[in-house]
Amino acid sequence: MKPYLSIILILSFVVNTGQSSKDTEIWGPIPKKVNSISDSSPPDDAIILFDGTDLSSWQARWGEKDSEWQINDDGSMTVVFDGTGGIQTKENFGSVQLHIEWKTSEDLSHKNQDRSNSGVFLQGRYEIQILDSYDNPTYVNGQAGSVYKQYIPLVNSSRKPGHWQSYDIIFDAPVFDNGGNKIKSGFFTVFHNGVLIHNKVEILGTTENVGPPKNLAHGDGPLYLQNHCCTQISFRNIWLRKL
Ligand code: MG
Repeated sequence: MKPYLSIILILSFVVNTGQSSKDTEIWGPIPKKVNSISDSSPPDDAIILFDGTDLSSWQARWGEKDSEWQINDDGSMTVVFDGTGGIQTKENFGSVQLHIEWKTSEDLSHKNQDRSNSGVFLQGRYEIQILDSYDNPTYVNGQAGSVYKQYIPLVNSSRKPGHWQSYDIIFDAPVFDNGGNKIKSGFFTVFHNGVLIHNKVEILGTTENVGPPKNLAHGDGPLYLQNHCCTQISFRNIWLRKL
């Protein structure tokens, strides 16, 4: 099309509608710049919870003593079944974007829920299950990636035992009023090894092993990593961004 025809068309649009493309342009506030060098390394506005050096951001789930989970030479840590119920962050969080990497054990001496069972609990209450689900049948609302006993993962993208895996979790925290009533549900969106396994599912309440979900009012809570049993599970590269 000749340039003058384009100008005539644009002018006629403005004249005919009284609207301009400028009417719907927004120029501020300008989003903050955040640098990220890879999909798995923490962006520069992330809170680093574990980078392989120490467990200073964590404490035992039960009791006040420090965690005794083992830090390994490769920058990971491994669950120690020390009866402390796992580890949780010292800081409490609301809605977050969480990245966490985990590795199940090559020890296949157990099966079902006893093979590298752990879990990532947002606000200490809402579990995304960790389990060796590569070749290990169990109830599907309790396999790796499930919102435990609430939502079955859309697909099973589990890797073989002994291989590192990742969760990228968007957690939208529930909201309660002063009377203790839930006025807004929480939601999970989850990627397992980069594959979408939950697309903004509504959290029904706490992820109970026995009985229905509970909805007692709460505020911010810790990120909790479960110490279940019976074969080892390791973690590395844990970070989150507050939303
Ligand atoms: Mg678990």
